[in-house]
Amino acid sequence: MTAFTLQDAKNRDRQDSVGSKRDLFYIDDSKVYMDGNSLGLLSRPAEQKVLELLESWKTYAIDGWTSGDHPWFYLSEKLGRDTAPLVGAKPEEVIVTGSTTVNLHQLVASFFQPKNNRTKILADQLNFPSDIYALQSQLKIKGLDPSGHLVQVNSKDGLTLATEDLIQAMTDEIALIVLPSVLYRSGQVLDMEALTKAAHARGIFIGFDLCHSIGATVHQLHDWGVDFAFWCNYKYVNAGPGSTGGLFVHEKHFGTKPGLAGWFASDKSKQFDMNHEPVFSEYAGAFQIGTPHILSTAPLIASLEMFNEVGIASLRERSLRMTDYFMDLIDHELANDHFSISNPRDAKSRGGHLYLEHEEAVRIAKALKAEGIIPDLRPPNGIRLAPVPLYNTYEDIFITVQRLKEIMSECKYERFSSTREVVS
Ligand SMILES: *Cc1c(COP(=O)(O)O)cnc(C)c1O
Repeated sequence: MTAFTLQDAKNRDRQDSVGSKRDLFYIDDSKVYMDGNSLGLLSRPAEQKVLELLESWKTYAIDGWTSGDHPWFYLSEKLGRDTAPLVGAKPEEVIVTGSTTVNLHQLVASFFQPKNNRTKILADQLNFPSDIYALQSQLKIKGLDPSGHLVQVNSKDGLTLATEDLIQAMTDEIALIVLPSVLYRSGQVLDMEALTKAAHARGIFIGFDLCHSIGATVHQLHDWGVDFAFWCNYKYVNAGPGSTGGLFVHEKHFGTKPGLAGWFASDKSKQFDMNHEPVFSEYAGAFQIGTPHILSTAPLIASLEMFNEVGIASLRERSLRMTDYFMDLIDHELANDHFSISNPRDAKSRGGHLYLEHEEAVRIAKALKAEGIIPDLRPPNGIRLAPVPLYNTYEDIFITVQRLKEIMSECKYERFSSTREVVS
């Protein structure tokens, strides 16, 4: 039987530190940051890249598009190649561009082709609202009523989705499927490979929102045959608030015309011909729209270097060891405090964060914050806690559980109101 002590946590940190880049991050030592699933922390190399790209603007002005260490004109493609290992793609299948919601609009505009009886989009009831709004508006653009044409698969337990239920909903009326890779609340990892296989067996295109899996889990998008995917880079990828996102289009779809066209979709050698007949890139770059947001892309240069140095597979393994420890500790220390660990426990379907449910979650999250632990509240009753393998420690996890234990045993949460904040 392991003794759950601070010393034990420190020993774990000594024995299991491969992959940790904590020294490179800005860490406030008076706090424990457990919210990397919502907004990753700033690293010094990422900060440096922002300064470098500002410098390239200062130095080169217009010539920065083609000069310096990171010529802006080719940056999205370069970072697409650097992102490929995170999503299991070929280098040309990925482009860094836009944002989650914009990229979803672009991909649905490109891949949703309602024909005859196949006029519906399949989604789920647990996805992030922005994705659902985008799907509703894309249906309206095509003259279809979302109330009949957006099919949302139900969750039996309100937390997870069953592969069988999703497959059962893949009828011959469905033209396109859009699902999250990891559910943003419970952290369930969907079986993307099985779902893709089932969709394709029924003649349906399928795409995934990787916001909660990129930088946290291992993907094989190319080998699984996934049609497309999209994501943000400000969660586990640590590229900063509103940083440029990314998308994947499988090479079998190279040549598909972008639904939302713009001049940055051009074949790079033809872009400055300025013809009114577009010549689109043959690669995923065809799904870019306008001028890339260079300063919001800069931090990603450093983040991807860090991921590629450590390797996503070893980060995922470290993450699983950390969440295992976290759950053991909660089981042991908070057994009588009415928390339920509502994320899937098995390693295959568990993402990078834990999802704790408690009827007093709102007040407990406020009490945690007052104690210097930064959680992520999902009202009405959920608290997400992410031990990020790049910068969190076993000691962080230990302290978090100790604070939770004190908050419960001393009823410290009772001092706080149960009204939610606007941004939580
Ligand atoms: C974070 C997140 C978003 C956010 O979309 P933005 O366009 O980046 O604001 C969308 N979908 C999911 C599933 C998310 O987790």
